[in-house]
Parts: sequence; structure tokens; C-alpha cells
Amino acid sequence: MDTAPNSSESPVGLKYALKTEAYRLGFTLFGVTTPEPPATLPVYLTWLEHGRHGSMAYLAADRAVARRTDLHLILPDVRSVVVLGLRYPRPTDLPADSAAGLHGRVAAYAWGTDYHDQIPPRLEQLTEFLQKQVGHPVAHKSYTDTGPILERDLASRAGLGWMGKNTCLINPQAGSFFLLAELFINLELEPDLPFTTDHCGSCRRCIDACPTGCILPDRTLDARRCISYHTIENKGPIPAELRPQLGAWVFGCDICQQVCPWNERFASSEFDPGLNPQPQIARPDLLAALSLTPQAFNRQFKGSPILRARRRGYLRNTAVALGNLRDAKAVPALAITLQSESEPLVRAHAAWALGQIGGEAARQVLEQCSDSESDAEVMREITAARIACQGCV
Ligand code: SF4
Ligand code: SF4
Repeated sequence: MDTAPNSSESPVGLKYALKTEAYRLGFTLFGVTTPEPPATLPVYLTWLEHGRHGSMAYLAADRAVARRTDLHLILPDVRSVVVLGLRYPRPTDLPADSAAGLHGRVAAYAWGTDYHDQIPPRLEQLTEFLQKQVGHPVAHKSYTDTGPILERDLASRAGLGWMGKNTCLINPQAGSFFLLAELFINLELEPDLPFTTDHCGSCRRCIDACPTGCILPDRTLDARRCISYHTIENKGPIPAELRPQLGAWVFGCDICQQVCPWNERFASSEFDPGLNPQPQIARPDLLAALSLTPQAFNRQFKGSPILRARRRGYLRNTAVALGNLRDAKAVPALAITLQSESEPLVRAHAAWALGQIGGEAARQVLEQCSDSESDAEVMREITAARIACQGCV
């Protein structure tokens, strides 16, 4: 247990005061490190060289790589980096289905308010507190998954845990269901001891459980095969060979964290109340989701991380989830989508879903739409779905 040093003017006393304030603001992890180059930089560069970032070109931009390499390019006179963690709900706390229906799955961090709206104001409050403590302005820069830094590397060096084989930061007392945030400051605080042990041992549960086999031996992911990447970052078609692995996930994926024994043992049922999880977002009704107009989508997901997928991406994912659930109840909604949805990307995935469900009703819809469809890519999907559809052709 921490003991309060007498003075908040010494680097140690100041750090203690800052930590206390961070906890008051809702953060449950707090560590400090120095602005040295991250140790995992070579791994990151290799990851980029192999193109494992997929279409996320912003990760490979020269400016982004330079900033990840030299933290002084972010804040020229940075002397300390404060790393913080905010707890989000455990996926096992998924609300029970409120009504019968076909439900999708959403990564637990996205069940409620967007953390990009929750965390930055608290980092600003923390900075104001720091400035009051020292009595002068403090040059600073804050991030929450918003800038070019290797945040899990910094978190590990700040003593908060180790980077697991699933690539997440794992805290030995609390697991990995945390959102990380960083505050760069031009003040010297006492750095924490780096976390140097690896507690994964011979475990490979996350590797074995990953539906797409995208977890690599160097503790990186091949984003091009990761469900999180495809349901959020990929703005185009989902590769047909990966669609069955998506299951019912429509935004993100928690599998490699859910199976981790450190979460089973230590993740707390408590989470930050500001994240305000909503059952209808956590367990979306897929048939209702498929009929969301642009206006309804923006209204429903105002202030939610799901906006990042945009309507066309979310409906594309919804169609894939319905195809994987293979329930004939979805055929009428998919038929309407294939006949009248304006986004070809969504129509294409609705056709695929109908092919997965199969049966006479699905076959008829695909046949009718093959006469009226004008988009070449959608037409290609319809043809493939007619072949896949049992009893077709
Ligand atoms: S998020 Fe899902 S798909 Fe991606 S690595 Fe983890 S288990 Fe695999
Ligand atoms: S599931 Fe096992 S191997 Fe994977 S991160 Fe957790 S402890 Fe490490």
C-alpha cells in the first residue's frame, strides 16, 4: 500500500499527489516512465514491413514512425510519461438478451459512451491539478489511442504489466480490460520500475482460441486477419474466406482476452461508470440494425465508438453475422436489404448471407435480384451466393 510522502513539491511527493488525483478521476492504473525510445520499436517496424497493418496506412506514415521512435518529436522537452488505465466492463458481464431475436456481439469497451469523449477531459483535469501543485504552466500532450505512440510498451515500462501473447497489456492484479491513456509532461517525476517478467509462460489459450489464427509469435497480430480490424477499420469488403470466422461479432472482438486466465482470475466486475454500457448496443438486434437509415444510425450511435465503423461498415458486419447465424428468420430482412439498400457494400454482404442461410426463400430472392442488380461486385456476390445456396442452380 502506498504511503503519502510529506511534500508534494519533491518529484516523489508530486507523483503521489498526481496518482491520488488520477484515482479520484476514475483511473485505476497509474505508472510513470521516462521518454526513452520504446524497446519494441524493431518489432513494430518489422510488422509494418510485412504489411500487417492492412489498410491502416496512417500507422506507416513517416511522421507516425518518427514520433513512435523519438518521443521528443511529440513534446520537445518531455521528461516524464504518465500512463493510466481506465477499466471497462468484462465481456462476461454481457447483459442477458432482453428479448428473443437474433443478436450480435460488440467488444466490451464499446458498449457505451465513447472513451474518446470520457478520457481526454480527465487528462486535462489531471494536468490542471498538476499545474496547481507546481504553481506554473506545464507543457504537456495527452493521448488516448489517438496518437503515434507504442502505448503498451510505455505502459509496461511504467510498471503496469506485461504484453501478453494476445498483444494486450496484462496487469497481474487486474487483467487486461483497460483503456490506456498517456500524459507527456516536461516535469520530472520518479519513474516506476519497468515490468520485466512475462507471466504467459507456456499458456497459448489466446492463440488457440483466435478464430482467424492471426496472433503471431512476436506478440503482434496480423491485422489483415483480425476480426477487430475487419469490423472496425476495414472500409471495404470483408474477405469471403474470413466471413465465417466473424461469428456474430459486429464491432470488435474480445475472444483473445476473454480466454486469458489472468482475466478469468483477476478482472474486476467494476468498471468506470462514465462508460455507461447500454444493453441494446452490447447485444444488438441484428434485424433491427439492418434496417437503420443513415439518420437512425447516427441517432442511435451518437457518442458511441461504433460510429467509427460508419453505417455501411456496421450494416455490412450485421449482414455477415446474420449469414453466420443461419436462421431463416433473417431472410425477409436480408431480401429487403438486397433489393433496396443504397450501399453496394451492404447489398453484397446481404447476398453472401442469403447464400449461407440457403433454402427456397433465399434462393428466390437471389434469383430475382440477379435480374435487377446493376453493380458488378454485388452481382458477383449474388452469383457466388446462388452457387452456395442449397438447391440453387
Ligand atoms: S481480436 Fe479476435 S480475431 Fe483479433 S486476435 Fe483477438 S481473438 Fe483473434
Ligand atoms: S491467454 Fe495465456 S498466452 Fe494468451 S495472453 Fe493470456 S496468459 Fe498469455
